[in-house]
Amino acid sequence: MTRTKHTTADWQRLDAAHHLHPFTDYGELNARGSRIITHADGCYVWDADGNKILDGMAGLWCVNIGYGRKELAEAAYRQMQELPYYNNFFQCSHPPAIELSRILSEVTPAHLNHVFFTGSGSDANDTVLRMVRYYWKLRGKPYKKIVIARENAYHGSTVAGASLSGMAAMHAQGDLPIPGIAHIEQPYHFGREPDMDPDEFGCQAAQALARKIDELGECNVAAFIAEPIQGAGGVIIPPASYWPEIKRICAERDILLVVDEVITGFGRLGTWFGSQYYDLQPDLMPIAKGLSSGYMPIGGVMVSDRVARVVIEEGGEFFHGYTYSGHPVAAAVAAENLRILRDEKIIERAGAETAPYLQARWAELGEHPLVGETRGVGMLAALELVKSKTPLERFAEPGKVGTLCRDTSVKNGLVMRAVGGTMIVSPPLVISREQVDELIEKARQTLDETH
Ligand code: PLP
Repeated sequence: MTRTKHTTADWQRLDAAHHLHPFTDYGELNARGSRIITHADGCYVWDADGNKILDGMAGLWCVNIGYGRKELAEAAYRQMQELPYYNNFFQCSHPPAIELSRILSEVTPAHLNHVFFTGSGSDANDTVLRMVRYYWKLRGKPYKKIVIARENAYHGSTVAGASLSGMAAMHAQGDLPIPGIAHIEQPYHFGREPDMDPDEFGCQAAQALARKIDELGECNVAAFIAEPIQGAGGVIIPPASYWPEIKRICAERDILLVVDEVITGFGRLGTWFGSQYYDLQPDLMPIAKGLSSGYMPIGGVMVSDRVARVVIEEGGEFFHGYTYSGHPVAAAVAAENLRILRDEKIIERAGAETAPYLQARWAELGEHPLVGETRGVGMLAALELVKSKTPLERFAEPGKVGTLCRDTSVKNGLVMRAVGGTMIVSPPLVISREQVDELIEKARQTLDETH
């Protein structure tokens, strides 16, 4: 492996001079310098000072297969030599996109047999917005345009993605959301309505959808979009009653159900898709991240037979697409990633063995005085930092404590993510039991050192 001669300070200087980072406080970055990650293997990343860090977040919830799989590099190399680029516009196609479409129709839920490729999760959600409106126009219902999403959802950072997202800070900076998007509450029970039974809370949160549809008029609403479990919003796990009620409302009101599986897809919940975990039959299902385990930028929207039939049979040209939709190198890498996930039964093994172990050990952190709640599903887990457990009292500035906790964890050799006062882990699916032990010990040490 080639290693550059730059020191950390050299990298930081160059980085500060020329590189505008996504989702980064520039003042803080310039004051402290960026953390430079130079290489990775398995479940670990190394920084430019040579520190080995357990990646408890699989990059940005995406390196499901773990780092360093040479087969993916070889697939990219082969494809770059054979056909580095061609498009899928204007009645063209190529084998990697066709092959990946076939594999996706096999691994996703049975009724999802069509895929529209994108470059990322954000533009997959732009595609969702375009496609649901197009679908209803083709169905002779052009007024069905509004998409209902949820507070604190994250559906991406493009104008449409950020509008569908329910993040107040993003909306405020960008004068968003764009018209035609509405938001309802999230099913976030911790610290709210403590005396209410979780299932009653879940039903009430789902009923917000029915109320919003009534307020807007069913004839104006195209779709409801949600993550099976909100990821970047803080790993918000809905009570068991929530999704059945949402499904019922969408079916009863003739609203398309869009299940954003950008994080939950490809094994994160211990099943191939969150839709299987919650028994959902999405009309559209955005995917990205784990599709290539982050080795190449690629996303897509899985489209149900019901929607695809209308788009194919009733439509002419859908005036939508990206230069890199189904990019051959990205598609070849994604296909190889899916081959490995399948052949090595990585998702099945994570679901049956590692996930229960991770969840059992993560729950032990609930005994820590700083932890008000632990929660998790599959290979996804979160805890709430609190000032006091009884009576429940959050920190005045939970974001500050979360950032402190996150930085302490990196100092201790573990990447965790902070969303306000919620600490999150979402490790590669290939993490071993010994590495789970290491993760828990480092997380505990971090909590001990966070004040
Ligand atoms: N949807 C969900 C649920 C996500 O978590 C994300 C990213 O974290 C996106 C969409 C946007 O994906 P990308 O960052 O690839 O554009």
